[in-house]
Amino acid sequence: MVKILVTDPLHEDAIKILKEVGDVEVATGLSKEELLEKIKDAEVLVVRSGTKVTREVIEHAEKLKVIGRAGVGVDNIDLDTATEKGIIVVNAPDASSISVAELTMGLMLAAARNIPQATESLKRGEWDRKRFKGIELYGKTLGIVGLGRIGQQVAKRAQAFGMNIIAYDPYIPEEIANSLGIRLVSINDLCKESDFITLHVPLTPKTKHMIGKEQIDLMKKNTIIVNCARGGLIDEKALYEALKEKRIRAAALDVFEEEPPKDNPLLTLDNVIGTPHQGASTEEAQKSAGTIVAEQIKKILRG
Ligand code: NAD
Repeated sequence: MVKILVTDPLHEDAIKILKEVGDVEVATGLSKEELLEKIKDAEVLVVRSGTKVTREVIEHAEKLKVIGRAGVGVDNIDLDTATEKGIIVVNAPDASSISVAELTMGLMLAAARNIPQATESLKRGEWDRKRFKGIELYGKTLGIVGLGRIGQQVAKRAQAFGMNIIAYDPYIPEEIANSLGIRLVSINDLCKESDFITLHVPLTPKTKHMIGKEQIDLMKKNTIIVNCARGGLIDEKALYEALKEKRIRAAALDVFEEEPPKDNPLLTLDNVIGTPHQGASTEEAQKSAGTIVAEQIKKILRG
């Protein structure tokens, strides 16, 4: 039987599918040494974002044929080494788009209405109705950076709230944006014109720190930034300075440059709210990411 090693929590339906084609070992929370040992004779490795599939890990895998990533981003997998070794990498790019888009809307509303801060205050026994006065989404301009799967789902939902949508995405044809009722603009114009800015691009050398001091300085005083994509897209130091000096209104962050964040000063600010990388953490997204990847693995193993 083929040995299938699963090193991050995977939905039970996905495990069932994998059991049809191999011996499944679920071993989560492994140390690096334990992973290097277990990977030796595995033919399939299934991960989410927790396991770092580095060159060293792949080089220790003597029999590895397939790596399954139950989710979208494959930035935790050394794709160059996998390709070099002829290992197939499969993922589930569509599985979490709606979950991430819904969290984005949730964070926009939470930041606009100070919901987390008001909840904390209420639980402390306070009844402070003035301090948490917010703003509406209705009639505001939302700037979407990256108009791909998630960006487009966010656009649809934000349009239902009565927002005007502009977007920066150099790879999306103008006709597609127009057909969605979205105006394409440059990144600097997006920063100047938006009341809310949300990021939905992958983290690459090109997109790293694409929102830095120069872009933040262009933003309106009331701008709210939401990031449910990757921490490295924003220069956190520049963001911290701007939020501390109230040069922009607030930030709502699901992702951080370092995860879990260690002594991140952003988390000391009242105008920052956030979640611990929860974008794809829904029953539906996890089930669909796991089963999509398991079905692909089944197909590959059955040839
Ligand atoms: P996608 O590939 O469908 O869309 C990405 C879009 O970004 C594309 O339209 C592309 O043209 C655009 N883009 C690429 N480089 C760009 C650049 N330099 N400037 C502007 N636009 C650029 O991806 P998706 O499924 O929408 O996911 C977007 C990102 O969301 C993923 O890369 C991932 O990092 C993140 N994500 C986060 C979570 C979470 O848990 N928070 C879950 C899933 C995905």
